[in-house]
Amino acid sequence: MASFYDEIEIEDFEFDKETQTYHYPCPCGDRFEITTADLMDGEDIARCPSCSLMVRVIYDPDDFQDDNQETTIDLRKQEVAI
Ligand SMILES: [Zn+2]
Repeated sequence: MASFYDEIEIEDFEFDKETQTYHYPCPCGDRFEITTADLMDGEDIARCPSCSLMVRVIYDPDDFQDDNQETTIDLRKQEVAI
């Protein structure tokens, strides 16, 4: 079993709309990355491209089951607004 640096909630990741990728700062100075496609596939491991560290992403799979990503994002915004 692989070792993980940490477990990070998806809300703490920074989302890049252009690349559909979530980023989180890695202690090496680079960033962990995981894409929305990975999350929809059930993948929950974000990897840093510059070192071997990984983090487990804490998220609700239901948020990424729907094939309409924009609906998911809009729902999240509404939740924050409420
Ligand atoms: Zn790193």
